[in-house]
Amino acid sequence: MLAGPLPELLDHRRLANQQGVIEGSFPVKQLERFGEMLVDQAGDVNLKLEFSKGERDRTEVTGHLTAEVRLECQLCLQPVTLMLSSVFSVVVVKNEAELEHLEEEQDGVVHADKLIPVAALVEDELMLAVPMIPRHPDGECPDSDYAVTEDLAADEKDEPATTYRPFAGLADAIDKQNEPES
Ligand SMILES: [Zn+2]
Repeated sequence: MLAGPLPELLDHRRLANQQGVIEGSFPVKQLERFGEMLVDQAGDVNLKLEFSKGERDRTEVTGHLTAEVRLECQLCLQPVTLMLSSVFSVVVVKNEAELEHLEEEQDGVVHADKLIPVAALVEDELMLAVPMIPRHPDGECPDSDYAVTEDLAADEKDEPATTYRPFAGLADAIDKQNEPES
């Protein structure tokens, strides 16, 4: 098993033959298309990839990835740091025609060479892991905080201005009873 920084290129055929498992990380800035979705390209993608040989000698890769990235919150338009994670599996095929013939539930990556960039295996998966509407978690968005404060103020206003004192009249009544009748 390999840990630490991943090589940019992997010999997927050899890894498949050996049922290899690799684990490690690589910088987000190696992913051009994915990088365009982010506020900045800081951070790493952490990966675990398991290789095996599938039908027709194809390389099958089962993977798990996590990446902490900065996206633009769609509520306040400020950067928000989100943890993306994905479990996926892809089949490496030689050309588009082979890709067409994969089972519907199989994801394919077209790559004819035996050396494949790690980026090619995971970039689509990362892009799919990005939420449709990136936003701060509830209560952490500067915009929604403002909304919550407003709601609280409104609630306080609705409270009755006077406090209910059930015995307020009682003392007066007793006093009156004890007053000497003269
Ligand atoms: Zn926000």
